[in-house]
Amino acid sequence: MPELPDVETFKRYLDATSLHQRIVNVDVRSAYLLKDLSGREFTRELKRRRFEASRRHGKHLFVRADSRTWLRLHFGMTGFLHYFKSEEKAPRHARVVFVFEKHYRLAFDDQRKFGEIGLIKDVDEYLKKRGLGPDALDVDLAEFKNIFGKHRGTVKSILMNQKLIAGIGNIYADEILCRARIHPATQISSLEDKAVAKLFRATRYILEKAIAAKADVDLMPKSWLLPHRGKGGKCPRCGRELKSATIGGRTAWFCPHCQKKTV
Ligand SMILES: [Zn+2]
Repeated sequence: MPELPDVETFKRYLDATSLHQRIVNVDVRSAYLLKDLSGREFTRELKRRRFEASRRHGKHLFVRADSRTWLRLHFGMTGFLHYFKSEEKAPRHARVVFVFEKHYRLAFDDQRKFGEIGLIKDVDEYLKKRGLGPDALDVDLAEFKNIFGKHRGTVKSILMNQKLIAGIGNIYADEILCRARIHPATQISSLEDKAVAKLFRATRYILEKAIAAKADVDLMPKSWLLPHRGKGGKCPRCGRELKSATIGGRTAWFCPHCQKKTV
């Protein structure tokens, strides 16, 4: 499921390929992903415009088509972008294809159709309406401590709560906790100030490194959890077998030796 590093990678991909080109058509192959408007309306709004700039917040990507029109993309479980030449075949699960005038196209591919595509007028207003917290990379230590001081629950569920901090999902929450050596089910009320600061540093480190690796697991350090998580996987630090548990409704992977539960 695309999280902050994945969506940031999509943003950079879109910026590098699809800006400033006139959109001559929009091929809506699955209107199911469109929110609050029909395929025809969607096409009419974007035709003859150009994508001028993009902005990411948490797991959401916004692309400005003009001062009052922003395309919003949420990648759900399996969404991604693919830029290709008109004579090439569109990717297999292309749901919406933006056709540019100079022989190129941009597809939003989404096998499982949990993604969302919409048009909005104002990004900040939209973020407010959705109740999203600040982007995980915009949060400073004071704000991070404030969030952790004000809420209750397990550390992993707080990290994944988009209304508190936007952008972190199941995979990167586990990675951050592995680096900070904190058990995912630790109650945040039991975390000392020092541990919260450590968690903050781990959050920044993991997200920034994952972006630098283009969110590609093959490019991530072998000392990370990600290349090892799953049944039979071994802890990259101590070599013991990783464990899984359901925490906050999602499967957490962790090392019970390196990430001891304090409470
Ligand atoms: Zn370990």
